[in-house]
Amino acid sequence: MRIIPESHWRNLEADAAGFVYPHRVRVKCEECDAWSVVALENASTNAAAFLRTASGTCPSCEVVFQFLLKYDTKTPKGNQKRAVLLLSTGVSEKYIMPHEGSSAIDERINKLLSEAVQSFNAGRYGESSNQIRRALEGSLKKSLHGKALSDGDQQKTLHALINLAVQHVDFSDPLKKLAILAKDIGNMGSHFNDDGDPSPELVREQIEATKYIVSYLFELPNSISEMQALIDDNKRPVGDLSKL
Ligand SMILES: [Zn+2]
Repeated sequence: MRIIPESHWRNLEADAAGFVYPHRVRVKCEECDAWSVVALENASTNAAAFLRTASGTCPSCEVVFQFLLKYDTKTPKGNQKRAVLLLSTGVSEKYIMPHEGSSAIDERINKLLSEAVQSFNAGRYGESSNQIRRALEGSLKKSLHGKALSDGDQQKTLHALINLAVQHVDFSDPLKKLAILAKDIGNMGSHFNDDGDPSPELVREQIEATKYIVSYLFELPNSISEMQALIDDNKRPVGDLSKL
């Protein structure tokens, strides 16, 4: 997904509920690199969700774009609702959503993650690969500091750092703590039967934690296999035409 700035919106209109949207937008197609003004078709607004969706077609190569307008939910009543317009195309391999950052992550690591995504989106893949490698090295060094690494002991390769982390970082620790909490959460239901629901804050954290665990269990192994396959492809001798 990438953001289409308002300067590229054409023929603005507001509907009866105050949702502002363009009828056409100027976009660069990632498939054929052509700039064009594309009409938003099949548009529909979901006022309850503060969303508007539409599609469009590149006049040069006919790839189909998907548009998503996300409106601010906090617009004062009676005011026009302004949106961010996002574009998604069939070619999303060349774009990554900006890293949002997190207060739980070291500032330098957040910065490297953001820079790696920015470099990637600008097509500077070598630079991006370097930055993401440094982000991973920095994260491992931080989690190993005081366990298997001291201040003077920072010159380890990524390979060595990962092996050290396997030995010295207790990856199961969050799960052990979660196992205890799972009991508490189960008991809470029986303690607060009359009130019914747990607080939204608690459920939000449950959702976040579960997303991380599911991602670690299923997406991480998948992502590493994909990387392995891409590296194997690169190792293929130039003269090997078996893939043609
Ligand atoms: Zn195109």
